[in-house]
Amino acid sequence: MVTLDAVLGDITRQDVDAIVNAANTRMRGGGGVDGAIHRAGGPDVLRDCVARFPDGLAVGDAGWTTAGRLSARWVIHTVGPNHAAGQRDRSLLVSCYRRTLEVADELAARTIAFPLISAGIYGWPRRDAIAAAVDTILAAPTRVGEARIVAFGPDAYDEVRERLSAAGV
Ligand code: ADP
Repeated sequence: MVTLDAVLGDITRQDVDAIVNAANTRMRGGGGVDGAIHRAGGPDVLRDCVARFPDGLAVGDAGWTTAGRLSARWVIHTVGPNHAAGQRDRSLLVSCYRRTLEVADELAARTIAFPLISAGIYGWPRRDAIAAAVDTILAAPTRVGEARIVAFGPDAYDEVRERLSAAGV
């Protein structure tokens, strides 16, 4: 079973096999964590997005690219539902975590760092975004050994810790 932890900080600084990006369907960069990952990873990340995903990705799906200059080996991009734009089907958010872990298994990644997908610009209510993240990662049939949820601020960090405690972690 996967070990799940909470970390407060910047996902681009995580020393893991795979860093997860909250991307958009075009997969050509964006704001928030997407912008931070492309800035830190450098142009190879975008080049690989264009080469491997000429048509981008569907909401709820995931796919990998190089991590460029990041210390991780891969970036796994996943597209969360845009709650602010009316995409409120929770199964799509759950699918992001499941699909990302399936891709991680294809890569034989052992350690992975997730941001809180959809909880920023896409406006998914944070407590529910955290519940979806924690519950889905813990229930996933994955060979990933260590997963961490990277919270970008102290309030989010405390809420992730609370949810982990409630889940018995
Ligand atoms: P989305 O468009 O899926 O909502 P965002 O990037 O806007 O994606 O936000 C997703 C989450 O990532 C938010 O909780 C935001 O605070 C957080 N975030 C933004 N930048 C970083 C970063 N460098 N490291 C970790 N988390 C980040």
